[in-house]
Amino acid sequence: MTMRARRWAVVLAAGRGERFGAGPPKQYRCVIDRTVLEWSIDALLAERRIDTVVVALAPGDRRWRRLPHAKNARVMTCIGGKKREHSLSSALDALQGRAADRDWVVAHDAARPCLHARDLARLLDEVDGDPVGGLLAVPVSDTLKRDEGDGRSRGTVDRANLWRALTPQVFRYGVLRRALALCVDRDRAVTDEASAVECLGLKPLLVHGRTDNIKITHPEDLAIAEALLRARRRGR
Ligand code: C5P
Repeated sequence: MTMRARRWAVVLAAGRGERFGAGPPKQYRCVIDRTVLEWSIDALLAERRIDTVVVALAPGDRRWRRLPHAKNARVMTCIGGKKREHSLSSALDALQGRAADRDWVVAHDAARPCLHARDLARLLDEVDGDPVGGLLAVPVSDTLKRDEGDGRSRGTVDRANLWRALTPQVFRYGVLRRALALCVDRDRAVTDEASAVECLGLKPLLVHGRTDNIKITHPEDLAIAEALLRARRRGR
């Protein structure tokens, strides 16, 4: 009898958010009645196909233990690293011995509190029958400009076939481990899970996501997230 592949979520919450400015890191800023990090974890816990959520925390994080999630039996933590890929690697290490190679890892930025339940469900559905795995992404809609480091437009980039990569990104545990090891070996930059998997010569599935799955990057993004989440609570 074959065991079903399980789904493990990883929430990357070990960033210092330097672009965000002074004060608590962005994942601990409050939106309506809870932190950005809690919104992101709740979006994953609400999906019953996800067994456990591993949260990668910054070394010395003292805020986590004050959150109710610290006592949730479906949530575990690990200590993240200097870069996002180090935090991912540490979360995969934490799953060693529990996750099988063919289990799915659902990696999500803590800084994306507006993940919609239907987007997550569709992503899991579409990836389920896929040999590689995939990610939520949005086709680029703005006109793109390229400068030469001087802040003056030198040309327009063709946006055909260009997508913005969002999270979650879903890949098999074994594939992610191999992909990360190869990137470290080749000294390749890893900006998201898909970029590591591409290093193996694989082509992740792009699953059309909602444009309101924003990443909190600048202080003004908090007001946008608040408006989106309030509207969602009102059923809009
Ligand atoms: O900095 P940026 O917003 O691109 O980071 C994306 C996500 O990766 C954030 O949720 C951040 O907390 C996480 N991250 C991490 N470990 C790092 C750097 C970023 O978990 N060393």
